[in-house]
Amino acid sequence: MGQPPVSGDRVSALETIIDVAELGTWIWNVQTGETEFNDYWARMLGYTLAELEPTSIDTWLYFLIEEDRPVSEQALKAHFDGEASVYDCEVRVRHRDGRLIWIRDFGRVVSWTPEGQPEWVSGAHLDITSHKDLEQSLREESEANRELIQTLERAQEIGNLGYWKANLDAGDLYWSEKVFEIFGVSSDTFTPSVNAFRTFVHAEDLALVDAMEVQARQTGLFDVEHRVVRPDGSVRWVYERGDYTPVGGGHVFIGTVRDITEQKEQEARLRELSFTDPLTQIPNRRVFMERLNESYELFSRREIPASVVMIDIDHFKAVNDTYGHGAGDEVIGNVARTLADRVRESDVPCRLGGEEFGVLLPGTGIEEAMDLAERLRVEIAGYACTTYRGEVFQVTVSAGVSRFNREDEHPEQALQRADAALYLAKATGRNRVMKGA
Ligand code: GH3
Ligand code: MG
Ligand code: MG
Repeated sequence: MGQPPVSGDRVSALETIIDVAELGTWIWNVQTGETEFNDYWARMLGYTLAELEPTSIDTWLYFLIEEDRPVSEQALKAHFDGEASVYDCEVRVRHRDGRLIWIRDFGRVVSWTPEGQPEWVSGAHLDITSHKDLEQSLREESEANRELIQTLERAQEIGNLGYWKANLDAGDLYWSEKVFEIFGVSSDTFTPSVNAFRTFVHAEDLALVDAMEVQARQTGLFDVEHRVVRPDGSVRWVYERGDYTPVGGGHVFIGTVRDITEQKEQEARLRELSFTDPLTQIPNRRVFMERLNESYELFSRREIPASVVMIDIDHFKAVNDTYGHGAGDEVIGNVARTLADRVRESDVPCRLGGEEFGVLLPGTGIEEAMDLAERLRVEIAGYACTTYRGEVFQVTVSAGVSRFNREDEHPEQALQRADAALYLAKATGRNRVMKGA
């Protein structure tokens, strides 16, 4: 290290620093308006200093745009009044080529008049146009982002759709506002994570969700319907669909979650409807045939017996003809209720059609089935039916009972034998139960 430069050299060293720092300098006598600028100051505006000379404070005011004059004046006043230790502001000036450039203008009083007025002030001008442009584009970008987020929030509201982002390796989980709502927690108090998510999954669906997670790591696709138990105990159905997103390494998934509870309830209602006879609310023929097939499977593979009872109301045409179709419907309803009330949980009572009913008794031998049929016959015969006109009448039923046989090749053979026994009951006087072969 050499000696610091001597006085003259120091000045040129400072000038060099100012020049390479691309700083325009000014010295201004507030009282006389006398002003001195450096070379770079003129270059900044697209001129040589020689072109602008002789300079005064008016030279500066010529370049400074009209709207920004008050900005400069206020900053000067604040400094001269002692409110600000330096003069400092940002203003726009007109470059020679017509474009506006942003200048940071700062300085300080160097000397005061004996009356206490500012005399010499010196300072510098720094071109901050590129910073301003960057600031502006960042502002525009964040404005655009804000709008995009608003649009997304609105869209998830309209579609009842939440979105999430999960890092399966790190366990991090991001939820959009809608997901918090679906899961019944507040974003103020609850912090999502992959582990915390699992605590919401219905116990019966956890294995399914875990299996899906394993599958998602392999296939890149997460697609599952499961139940969520909210902290208040209520249960919601959700549909989650996400896919692997190659960002930041690891197994990162972005996905959506939709509350499908209403849809599920609707489906269940429809399913229920298609299995239930609308007049009597007991199972229909379709359910009966399905369960008959299942019982037959158990019988042929594991020799678990099953019996069937077929019941037909006697002279039902006469009931309709005498008391009206409405009274007939009530009789059908009564018989159905008796069946539903008297059979065991595992038995299947059903309305096969018209005034014909069936009961499937899985695991039950023929003698027990005969007993049940007989009890049903007696109970139904004991009813007093009353019409809206006050007429009182009784109905009887006939029944045929059968069971699966080893020789059977398909389940309907048991039904045919029960039907034949029922025919025999009719033929031999009705109001009786007959055993099929
Ligand atoms: P049987 O003792 O030989 O069984 O005589 P039945 O009159 O009961 O026999 P049939 O099968 O000829 O008549 C059944 C009647 O049941 C015919 C039909 O009008 C009536 N029926 C079928 N479905 C309904 C229904 O949903 N409501 C009412 N009220 N009547 C029905
Ligand atoms: Mg009948
Ligand atoms: Mg009939």
